[in-house]
Amino acid sequence: MLAAGDASSLIIADGAMGTMLLAAGFAYDTHVYPLLNLTHPTAVLEIHRQYAAAGATLLTTNTFGTSYHLAHGRIEPSQVRCIAQAATQLAQEAASLTGRAALIGGSIGPLGKALAGIGAHQAGAWFAMQAVALQAAGADVLILETLTSNQEALLALQAIQSATSLPVWVLFNVNESGTLLDGTPILKAAQQALDLGAAGIGANCSSGLWAVLKAVQHLAHLNAGYARLIARPSAGTPQQDGRYPLTPSDFAECAPALLKAGANVIGGCCGSTPSHIRALCASLHAVLAQSGSTSAHHNPLQPNKSRDQHSPCHIAQRDAQP
Ligand SMILES: [Zn+2]
Repeated sequence: MLAAGDASSLIIADGAMGTMLLAAGFAYDTHVYPLLNLTHPTAVLEIHRQYAAAGATLLTTNTFGTSYHLAHGRIEPSQVRCIAQAATQLAQEAASLTGRAALIGGSIGPLGKALAGIGAHQAGAWFAMQAVALQAAGADVLILETLTSNQEALLALQAIQSATSLPVWVLFNVNESGTLLDGTPILKAAQQALDLGAAGIGANCSSGLWAVLKAVQHLAHLNAGYARLIARPSAGTPQQDGRYPLTPSDFAECAPALLKAGANVIGGCCGSTPSHIRALCASLHAVLAQSGSTSAHHNPLQPNKSRDQHSPCHIAQRDAQP
């Protein structure tokens, strides 16, 4: 049984990739982050390695922006397979380097453009293409995340499910009142995702920690125990200077409440760092130890399965400067 689809154990997910790349000198406006898997693999690998060393048992591929850049013409469909392969391989390699087994979550983000301007057929094809590539590369679970449109979420989920056999988690970006940017209540959006067979539902990024906690508390009522309940908040709302306000210990304070709410995949999003995940991990383990639970464990899956050693995709041997 694939643990990503098994709701009985706790998975500690990693934190942000984008804001970590930004901090490493890769500016948003001059870099297409998914391409960094190919051009600057060492930089991506190092971030994954730090998250694995901090205790994350799920590493998320650096593929989040692929949908966005496909929709905006900065990634060609012909590049999707190589991006997914390199991204998955880097996450697997990071787990190997730290000697820890980790699930690999294939990240798929939103298009960042109105569906009407793209067309449902084209949008579905782009989502399916990413899912197929991530599955072929060896991802254990597909993570549709930071979704702000229910219509896009449903379209993406259906397209992915018709193209792959992997479990799919659907994570929404919500405000404090529990609605998506398009006005859909997260309860309704998540129920529809479950009805379509999502293996996990939850919230990520959002207006910070408390918005995600509130969303998860609501979602717990929907969950019949078979789906993963996922919480990956950002480290607060960014301040004017772009900094995220929550320190690692502030961030870790949410752990008991998230566990109590029933979340069983807990990690971070924008502004969180390996230090945040280390603090979160310590806090989660302390809560579980206190309650006598043994449900936090490392996943037994082999991190290197399905790796193609003879890939035709080019990955730079050494990173150039960002
Ligand atoms: Zn985020």
